[in-house]
Amino acid sequence: MNDLIQIEQGCPASNFSAKDRPTWDLYSTCIHCGLCLNHCPTYRVLGTEMDSPRGRIYQVLQVDAGRLPISDSFVTHIDRCLGCLACETACPSGVQYGHIVERARAQIEDHYKRPLLTRLIRWAVYKKILRDFHLLAQSARLLRLYQRSGLQKLARKSGILNLLGVAEIEKLSPEIDSEFFFGEIGMLIPAVGTKRARVAFHAGCIANVAYSSLNYATVRLLSMNGVEVYITPRQRCCGALHAHAGYREDARALARRNIDTMLDGEQHYDAIITNASGCGSNLKQYPDLLGEDKDYVERARVFSAKVKDVTEFLAGIGLVEPQQSCAMKVSYQDPCHLAHAQRVRSAPRELLKAVGAEIIEMPHPDQCCGSAGSYNVTQNELSMEILNAKMDDVESVISAAEVIVTANVGCLLQLTAGAKQRALEVPVKHIVEVLNECYY
Ligand code: SF4
Ligand code: SF4
Repeated sequence: MNDLIQIEQGCPASNFSAKDRPTWDLYSTCIHCGLCLNHCPTYRVLGTEMDSPRGRIYQVLQVDAGRLPISDSFVTHIDRCLGCLACETACPSGVQYGHIVERARAQIEDHYKRPLLTRLIRWAVYKKILRDFHLLAQSARLLRLYQRSGLQKLARKSGILNLLGVAEIEKLSPEIDSEFFFGEIGMLIPAVGTKRARVAFHAGCIANVAYSSLNYATVRLLSMNGVEVYITPRQRCCGALHAHAGYREDARALARRNIDTMLDGEQHYDAIITNASGCGSNLKQYPDLLGEDKDYVERARVFSAKVKDVTEFLAGIGLVEPQQSCAMKVSYQDPCHLAHAQRVRSAPRELLKAVGAEIIEMPHPDQCCGSAGSYNVTQNELSMEILNAKMDDVESVISAAEVIVTANVGCLLQLTAGAKQRALEVPVKHIVEVLNECYY
């Protein structure tokens, strides 16, 4: 604790700049008890204190106090964090670890020079493609051409992907849709039957080009449940990937844009709905992101109070009697950003039971699958080891469960890859798909 006491805001020796610096309150909540360690996926795999929540907080503090430089080693340990927030739910002291690591990453982005190629890729992805839906659509079309022209098969057969060291990463790339969801943005979908609510739908970014069927299913499920859905125009990526990668200014710009498009005007919404838990948790974090912006902080509070994961919202209003029973045995995997970041655990289970499903719990349903946004690409090897532990869990229930269900596209992709690696014949589905099938 002495280390904590010695550091003060404005310390001249700090290696951090004032903007996006972790506050004293954030550090001082950690009592170094270590109860979070065994809940941390990277600690479980690597077994090193530096790759545990307590170790990471300690390193951030040392760098902030000017006792450690922002070195390759520091960046490696911070980069290895999944941001799964299992440590937050395990912590008896209420440490807001997510706020610490996000600010540390913003400092790394400002003060550390990554290798040239990495900087170029990060610039293209975070500053360009994910900020501009036109560029995202063009990039997706190029990837679709690669996937469908035979180039992908050729590259896989030739072994060039192995030579370049990207074979495992390439296998995780999502299949690009024939039709993108962008065309639906700006549309109003009426409620079927008696109107029970009116919501704005946040369609995500990658989900528009790689999971448009899931977005269609979400809108349809809401509509079938008496909800009028407005897919608000001019909406943008929620900024979660930017915030997690250290680009907090870009995340702020996207947050302001989403607040403007969904709060302004005559429109009134009972809720702002998302089907991606990473997006949902970031949309709910807008007051923290915009805490210093006096023009937006209050509106960010109003905005985030309306944000609901689709499962949270539907469990709140109750499902309309489905047209058919969906009696089946399912095992539900909690996405980290739904269970740990948003503390939504019972809503998905309640909905599954409401349509007739029986839930077979796996031993550690809220243990990270290793997907974590872009983590399975940037930290592929570690991500695969974390997935391996998850698949042991999945394998232990597949003799009883007919379907593995999750509530986040990243988990869906990762678990599907895991099932394929182990040649398991169990389907992996998003909960929205499962529920939607009960309304035909
Ligand atoms: S983060 Fe929480 S659980 Fe972990 S060492 Fe600090 S106080 Fe203990
Ligand atoms: S966010 Fe997840 S990976 Fe990172 S320190 Fe916490 S438990 Fe470990």
